[in-house]
Amino acid sequence: MMKETFLRLWNLQQLDAELKTLNVKLEQLPGRIEGLSKIAADMRTDLEQARQSIIEHRKQYKLAEVDLKSAEEKIGGYSVQLYSAKTNEQYKAFLKEIDTQKKLKSDIEDRMIVLMEETEALDRKVKQQESKVAEFETDTQRKIQMLEAEKQEIAAAITERRDQRETIAKSLPEELLKRYDRIRSNKAGMAVAPIKRERCTGCLSPIPAQRILEIEREDRVYLCEACGRILVVSRD
Ligand SMILES: [Zn+2]
Repeated sequence: MMKETFLRLWNLQQLDAELKTLNVKLEQLPGRIEGLSKIAADMRTDLEQARQSIIEHRKQYKLAEVDLKSAEEKIGGYSVQLYSAKTNEQYKAFLKEIDTQKKLKSDIEDRMIVLMEETEALDRKVKQQESKVAEFETDTQRKIQMLEAEKQEIAAAITERRDQRETIAKSLPEELLKRYDRIRSNKAGMAVAPIKRERCTGCLSPIPAQRILEIEREDRVYLCEACGRILVVSRD
């Protein structure tokens, strides 16, 4: 065992930690891209719904116009018949019909006002949202492009570090590498623990002064008696 081996082991752990972080970032990217696309798509859907609603309102308005005309015609018809009423009962019946149609007419007119107001509000909304949605979509496209570029960069960084890791791994004694990988998978990614303030940084157990002196010689591997990690001299 030599100092160089411990330095390599330490670098291996740094690379593994970086690879872990990079992989997490890479895995998050598709979700972030999807999230942005969804917001833009939802805004677009909302706008389309408002447009559809305008069409529906105009249709309803036209139907109301037909109903209004029909009510007006009926009022006119009954008004003429009123003069040809032969009995008081007939006269009253025509008056009642006229009254009913007038109420109907008034209801239709109220509905038409509501429809008109709602259509105007929808028109305003569509006009406002059109530019906002378009702006947001452009912005989203730009952000997605940036995230795609980031994806490429991270993928390249991962490849680079994997190559570096392979080179270091090859240069280490096979037994030590196996031991490193085994401890690493058991200890949440941290197999090598530097000693700081006379403690193992992996589990914070104190390391006896005599043992620290032995470790500092860097001529063999010492494991932390408490957590089993490979103890090394702090490189900070
Ligand atoms: Zn420990």
